[in-house]
Amino acid sequence: MITAGVLSLQGDVSEQVSHTKAAMHDLNLDGCVLEVKVKKEFKDINALIIPGGESTTIGKLLKEYGLGEEIKKLARKNIPVMGTCAGLIMLGKDTNNANALGLMDMEAERNAFGRQKESFEVDINIPRIGETPYHAVFIRAPVIKKPSEKIEILAEYKNKVVMAQENNLLAVAFHPELTEDLRVHKYFLELIKR
Ligand code: GLN
Repeated sequence: MITAGVLSLQGDVSEQVSHTKAAMHDLNLDGCVLEVKVKKEFKDINALIIPGGESTTIGKLLKEYGLGEEIKKLARKNIPVMGTCAGLIMLGKDTNNANALGLMDMEAERNAFGRQKESFEVDINIPRIGETPYHAVFIRAPVIKKPSEKIEILAEYKNKVVMAQENNLLAVAFHPELTEDLRVHKYFLELIKR
């Protein structure tokens, strides 16, 4: 029985919950999805998603509730952690967000494609999840900068890195919970060691 947690401080939590449930169902995984926001809820989870939203707010709340350390502990135990959009920013170094977790050896550039009105949808190639192009929704999206050699680049758009992995950690600049395609969530759940 697998328990996936979705950090529920701020952002598009409910979409992440429903997508993760659907992906578990497709993969025939016996599991459940929990919204997590107090320390004790982090103890027994097998995977964690940090959703998109507003990274400044998520960072402040992480600090206020003392949850950064809980997430670091999970990552050290090789538990998969996926950060999407603002969540990606939290996984990177603290160069532009003082509360970023610095779990992945990379920096994030916020709003790298422009502000809200420059949000867009586009088909990109993510060979790791299959040959069919993936329809990605970018909303005030960040990109990954200065990835070290430890980071595997999984997707680029306009020569900018928009999806990357470092062992159990997955950083996604777009919003996989806003499209019907479940491949990103399935790929993430398959990182759980069983
Ligand atoms: N631009 C937002 C930030 O910096 C992220 C946007 C999103 O998560 N959709 O926090």
